[in-house]
Amino acid sequence: MIESEFNAGLLDFLDGSPTPLHAVKRISEALDIKGFQRLDESDSWSLEAGRKYYVTRNGTSIIAFTLPHFLEGFVMLGAHTDSPNLKIKPNPVVISNGFVQLGVEPYGGLLLNPWFDRDLSIAGRVTFLASDGEAASEIIDFVEPLAMIPSLAIHLDKDANKNRSINPQTDIIPIIGCAEELDFEQMILDHLSDNGTDAQKLLSHDLSFYDTQKAGYVGLEREFIVSARIDNLISCYVNTRVMCSVEEDDARLMVCLDHEEVGSETTAGAAGSFLESVLRRITKGHEDFTKLMRRSFLVSCDNAHGVHPNFPSVHDENHAPKINGGPVIKVNANQRYASNSETIARFVQAAEHAGKRVQYFVSRSDMGCGSTIGPVTAASLGVDTVDIGLPTLAMHSIRELAGSGDAMELYEILLQLHEKGIR
Ligand code: ZN
Repeated sequence: MIESEFNAGLLDFLDGSPTPLHAVKRISEALDIKGFQRLDESDSWSLEAGRKYYVTRNGTSIIAFTLPHFLEGFVMLGAHTDSPNLKIKPNPVVISNGFVQLGVEPYGGLLLNPWFDRDLSIAGRVTFLASDGEAASEIIDFVEPLAMIPSLAIHLDKDANKNRSINPQTDIIPIIGCAEELDFEQMILDHLSDNGTDAQKLLSHDLSFYDTQKAGYVGLEREFIVSARIDNLISCYVNTRVMCSVEEDDARLMVCLDHEEVGSETTAGAAGSFLESVLRRITKGHEDFTKLMRRSFLVSCDNAHGVHPNFPSVHDENHAPKINGGPVIKVNANQRYASNSETIARFVQAAEHAGKRVQYFVSRSDMGCGSTIGPVTAASLGVDTVDIGLPTLAMHSIRELAGSGDAMELYEILLQLHEKGIR
């Protein structure tokens, strides 16, 4: 496979996934093409060895796995589907000074400043009363730019470049029009109707704003990929490509979960029951389950902070990953990352086998450290785990930057991992 083709698929995936719902739909479609069979959690399962399956929960989390004839342990690849954004409130319409605005609530730890002066659209899920009188849900995307959060001009805030702070309740309400009123429900029903769905009444919604600027390259030699949601859709994409490249007898499991950015304690999150429930249905009884977990290996993939040339001092200089320097192994003494010497060694050996480099990230000892789905999954399942990720700048901004050479390197390393070590 060539890198330009691999990255073209990545850009397409980023653009086609404005919300976790869209990401999971995209991943499902890629698995369908490769012969994975869709399961429903609310049905009885009769799994057959030599086949491949996937299952979703809440439409925002997905688990895919192969079922070899002799299953000893899985190579598991983990990532998260959600990214920080502005979520639309249940009763969103605000009328102010001739403007129509939609009230929002920040989701996750987003950088608020970059959301100003962007061409925003709306996507997510709506639940409605369908023409047959039953409740139904649909994933929607307005696609066109509909809204903007204009900055306050510098003439009206002389200190803007020194100490402008942002109030998330009052300062970032997107403007969606000029009118005396807006019937939000009718706006949604009209959109559904324009797209061929007859709905009588809007019951509820999970909608968010997103930036309509497309993912792309920057750099004289296209060194960088820039897009919204690189954290952590880049890992979802790499892991999906791995799943689509392996055979039925290669014991693999991929888990892409929602709600990592808000602590994972949800039905569809890493601290929820989804992964354990699926694994218990694959195994027969506690003995089988425990053996499988102790023989499995989880690679928790989430973005790593690359060193920023304007702000190098926020990194430990010996553990400052470079963009396009290869995948990053993340280590934290206080176990905010689940890596240990044995799991790190396994990843390093796979990288050596693939002829690829690795880098390390340890946060400065006088600074806090983020976390991932790695520690919570390792703790609840008892599975040996390494935390790794691709170096990224501007993490949690509306537009992030990653190296155009790094994603495919990770893909090639992950392909080298097998249930009994590297081949
Ligand atoms: Zn992340």
